[in-house]
Amino acid sequence: MKSRDTFLPYGKQWVDQVDIDEVVAVLQSDYLTTGTVIDQFEQRMAQYVGAKYAVAFANGTAALHGACVASGIKSGDEVITSPLTFAASANCVRYLDGKVIFSDIDHETYNLDPMLLEEKINHRTKAIITVDYTGQPCDYDKITPISKKNNLVLIADAAHGLGASYKGKKVGSLADMTMFSFHPVKSMTTGEGGIITTDSKVYYEKLKDFRSHGITRDPSRLQHSDKPWYYEMHSLGFNYRLTDIQAALGISQLSKLDSFIERRRQIAAKYTEALKSNPFIRTPYQLPNTSSSFHLYVIQLQTDKLQANRTEIFKKLIAANIGVNVHYIPVYYHPYYQQLGYKKGVCKQAEALYESILSLPIFPRMSDVDVADVIREVNRITNEVSM
Ligand SMILES: *Cc1c(COP(=O)(O)O)cnc(C)c1O
Repeated sequence: MKSRDTFLPYGKQWVDQVDIDEVVAVLQSDYLTTGTVIDQFEQRMAQYVGAKYAVAFANGTAALHGACVASGIKSGDEVITSPLTFAASANCVRYLDGKVIFSDIDHETYNLDPMLLEEKINHRTKAIITVDYTGQPCDYDKITPISKKNNLVLIADAAHGLGASYKGKKVGSLADMTMFSFHPVKSMTTGEGGIITTDSKVYYEKLKDFRSHGITRDPSRLQHSDKPWYYEMHSLGFNYRLTDIQAALGISQLSKLDSFIERRRQIAAKYTEALKSNPFIRTPYQLPNTSSSFHLYVIQLQTDKLQANRTEIFKKLIAANIGVNVHYIPVYYHPYYQQLGYKKGVCKQAEALYESILSLPIFPRMSDVDVADVIREVNRITNEVSM
């Protein structure tokens, strides 16, 4: 059996000629930014997830920053999140000098364990940032009542979860505010980009102000509405706008999102079918009544049954041109968080999982041959190093 001669990345965008034509049309129009294409994109995104409002941002991290500002998080406030995520889920709290409280994951779903949340809540707690890790929704029926009972804001970092659903509802309509990212490896792309979806008009207005310098032109909110040139800055915002060029790409990509997700689910099903009989691997668990968007397909190596460790297996797969990855280094392992005083050992499930996980390549444009290559190499290498 011949191995691949080209490198297969773990994730990649799918941009076609229709997308390019839509972008070119905006480039030839009058407004490259602050035009009407942004509004259209926001309306369609809100509609897609079943939320009332959407506010687009320059990237997902800026969108999370906006959600934290809209939540009123201030210096010393505590926000609970998962350690098994990209640093941005926690960093957005640090931008406001808030304190990040890492709460451990469930060993089956790899998402925040709802049972552990309440012991982390005190009078300083302001919000919970859930992470729909790999695209599998958190158990919102358990988390939402905890959040409500304690008057917390529930922010969903659904950077992985666009297109996923939980008990028949789309991710994006389940939390007080939900963030999606349009980085090229995510469900769909705008190059860089992000969005918050919400049902709250109050959050919606705060997010819009924050995205654009804290400036409003809404006549009903101005102190001097008789002056036609007039606008007011009410709070200290940023320039975190998405461009109309990017929004055009977003609208075009959104029209293909369901087919992208469908293909991701097909690939995931092929992996699970082929790898579930491999005794050295644990395939992902699916929470009943949820449908993952499969941003990632994460396997757990049963390293106690293998002579090689995860690093060695990782290197062998890369050498075979299979672009595996590791998602994620627990956030508080990073020197920045260590210097803030976070100690290893606080989230034991996440730490143990981190030692044994590998993300296999998964993206809509992968061919069946690519999928077969991954399965063959994973089986070959784990068998080679079995005891
Ligand atoms: C990608 C990602 C982000 C950040 O999104 P950007 O658009 O890259 O800023 C945040 N959280 C998670 C879990 C992500 O995967």
